Amino acid sequence: MSAFLAYGRQTIEDDDIAAVAAALRSDFLTTGPRVDAFEEVFAEAVGARHAVACSNGTAALHLAMLALDVRPGEVVIVPSITFLATANCARYVGAEVIFADVDPATGLMTPDTLAAALNQVGARKLRAVLPVHLRGDVAELDRLEALAAQAGAVLVEDAPHALGSEAVFGNHRERVGDCRHSAMSTFSFHPVKTIATGEGGMITTNDPDLAARLKAFRSHGMVRPADGDPWWYEMPEPGFNYRLPDILCALGQSQLKKLPRFAAQRQALAARYDEVLADLAPVVKIASRPDWSTPVLHLLVALIDFKAAGLTRRQVVDRLKAKGVGTQVHYIPVHTQPYYQARYGQLHLPGAEAWYEACLTLPLYPGMTPADVDHVAASLRAVLGL
Ligand SMILES: *Cc1c(COP(=O)(O)O)cnc(C)c1O
Repeated sequence: MSAFLAYGRQTIEDDDIAAVAAALRSDFLTTGPRVDAFEEVFAEAVGARHAVACSNGTAALHLAMLALDVRPGEVVIVPSITFLATANCARYVGAEVIFADVDPATGLMTPDTLAAALNQVGARKLRAVLPVHLRGDVAELDRLEALAAQAGAVLVEDAPHALGSEAVFGNHRERVGDCRHSAMSTFSFHPVKTIATGEGGMITTNDPDLAARLKAFRSHGMVRPADGDPWWYEMPEPGFNYRLPDILCALGQSQLKKLPRFAAQRQALAARYDEVLADLAPVVKIASRPDWSTPVLHLLVALIDFKAAGLTRRQVVDRLKAKGVGTQVHYIPVHTQPYYQARYGQLHLPGAEAWYEACLTLPLYPGMTPADVDHVAASLRAVLGL
């Protein structure tokens, strides 16, 4: 059993280290053949035509906004239960954020909460809706897409939690990242995510023009016309340096080979959590899984009735920590952040607030054993006095 169970962590093995060492001994530390190679295997793994690597998941979101040419004053809808970056990317390009509420049982934006957000667009131009596959469960993409399309907008899936997740809509089994319902999907390879490169991100799309724009904005806005001289480049619009170095693409390729194993390990551990936490209901419930979704869970979120247990969340967090169990809270509703409150006033999103009151993320990562899950459950039972 591990000494301390963090809520999430990377799994780096000897062959991952060897792949990085090989990159370090090669001619290219950045912008070499490993970037294209990683993009190619990633696109294939998720079933998209194009994949564009970039420096992290936040850069991926910013690049998506740039590729769509989202402009100041235009509107982007994001769920309030997400990481800050999902909303911030709209502000990077001067767009305004409308926060959608979430289902308090799943934490996901739903067609109903999107419809309520759409009512607030008014005369402004809505450009994009950014569903987040919170925890790894897939948002209801087919219906969200239809609503967004009626309003003249596209979906951009913020998918860092859902690499390997699948869903069935109608007769189609779909992989997250295949962009069947969206213009683009974004991923992160932060150490707690399903595969890790330290920092790293990816955008997938089926649209060759978007892929070309993403690649240009990733590297200063430079484009090289096919018929140009060898040194020639042009900059139609300024971009950024959001490249992912070859060293990290080597690690990404090596990690991606393990996705099937990591996914199976996460699914087996999540199934064990279902079993061992079942009799802690109704005080402890695992966040619901929508029936169309076959997740590779990134986060195991328990929804806890702290009032019923007679404890504050802080007490539970501290007492679990003393038993070697790390936890985290995903997430503080973004609409309550000082910056967004100052900009948009005090909003009331009851689903997001209910989710935040109850959520506690328990340890889940491939290096855990079933005995570790049992230890988490026993610790929770003891701390809550159940
Ligand atoms: C991790 C994450 C991001 C940001 O990714 P970074 O690689 O840390 O920049 C954005 N959105 C969601 C939902 C995430 O989980």
